[in-house]
Amino acid sequence: MKFDLIIRGGRVATATDVMTCEIGIADGRIMAMAEKLDTGTAQIIDAGGRWITPGGVDAHCHLDQPSTDGSRAADDFFTGTRSAIAGGTTTVIPFAFQFRGSSLDAAVTDYHERASGKALTDYSFHLIVTDPTTDVIQREMPAMIRNGYPSFKMYMTYNSMKLNDRQILEVLAAARENQGMAMIHAENSDCISWLTDQLENAGKIEPRYHAASRPGPVEREATHRAVTLSELVDVPILIVHVSSKEAVEEIRRAQGRGLRIYAETCPQYLFLTESDLDQPDFEGAKCVCSPPPRDKANQQVIWDGLCNGAFQVFSSDHAPTRFDDPEGKKLKGEKASFRWIPNGIPGIETRLPLLFSEGVLKGRIDIHTFVSLTATNPAKIYGLHPRKGSIAIGSDADLVIWDDEREVTISNDMLHHNVDYTPYEGMAIRGWPDTVISRGEVVFADDTVTANKGRGIFVPGSLPTAAVPSKRF
Ligand code: MN
Ligand code: MN
Repeated sequence: MKFDLIIRGGRVATATDVMTCEIGIADGRIMAMAEKLDTGTAQIIDAGGRWITPGGVDAHCHLDQPSTDGSRAADDFFTGTRSAIAGGTTTVIPFAFQFRGSSLDAAVTDYHERASGKALTDYSFHLIVTDPTTDVIQREMPAMIRNGYPSFKMYMTYNSMKLNDRQILEVLAAARENQGMAMIHAENSDCISWLTDQLENAGKIEPRYHAASRPGPVEREATHRAVTLSELVDVPILIVHVSSKEAVEEIRRAQGRGLRIYAETCPQYLFLTESDLDQPDFEGAKCVCSPPPRDKANQQVIWDGLCNGAFQVFSSDHAPTRFDDPEGKKLKGEKASFRWIPNGIPGIETRLPLLFSEGVLKGRIDIHTFVSLTATNPAKIYGLHPRKGSIAIGSDADLVIWDDEREVTISNDMLHHNVDYTPYEGMAIRGWPDTVISRGEVVFADDTVTANKGRGIFVPGSLPTAAVPSKRF
């Protein structure tokens, strides 16, 4: 057998196994794994005894997504995927956004234009459904699910995006009928708007009140309601960006009753707290995202959920908004109420290193759990497995060789996104990707992204087995 590239001397970790073996790559795919492979004319990379994990799959990130508030996404598919690669992520699944009055088809067509010729990583799309008309439910959703777009995000909050319970039920029923994977942003919209009015009337408008306007019970109620809607329809759902102990309790209770409820969390709920919103000179706006960061006790509950399986997916929710920018966090000026601060924080590059350092190297989770949460499970849940998300014969050769000795102090200067800050500035961690390989090509080495613009390809999602209804309810 002839290989283009052989990686030897690594500890190869999958969601279940560790193998000390050589990986033989040809035509961008893993063709053989063995204790010893014939070198032939292959290029050789010696991993020097280090961990090799599957390239990360970031199943929740916003790239070049048009906004409804006049702000602008700082990262397009070029800068966003450049940042992803430098942090070990080789596949991204951002969101194609349906504007109300427009179709899913228009959203997908527009989004392909934004990605094509720019992306450095491979990519797939989720759809955001904001206008579930009869045509969307009866014609477009079945066609989308069949044609490589099997996942849909719905919002329970944000006026320009939210669906009511009846609309969510309609989308869930279509997902059930066609084996689509439904994702839900679970926060109670009326509670947020009422609390926001109360805070503003009391003159409490600084960024830190963003957290007070959407406390844990607001997330609990919506999570409970999302679970109930899923149960009524008997269709699996995934609750995105879970932040609070209240929401985790609802998810565990649902999972304990046998419901197919999946859950995702993100680095900001492990490493930030609401005190990060309480910074002078509007700096707190840098950490305004929804749900908001909570407190140390909530962080522990999120860690516990990662350790013991309440969560299946760990994503960045990279929502790139520049700080010192009139199209960014300062859209309405520094004196504006928290209500008007564009939501979202960057994190596509720091996602894997943070969890590797604070999870794996500090002994909170093992390497298999790390691989499951960051690559294998998201690939499975969104129909990209086994092509993506694992290290197996026939899979795309998407790999990360880790330098687990390296001490890193995170600073925005070292990152590759187009955002003017990182919420993790100054944080000391250990370990960073040494070499990143995408479809057999070295795309990051010696701290340099070597991928050519536009090399990334669209990977259609197939029907996720995770979306099969239990037929028990
Ligand atoms: Mn969201
Ligand atoms: Mn998001």
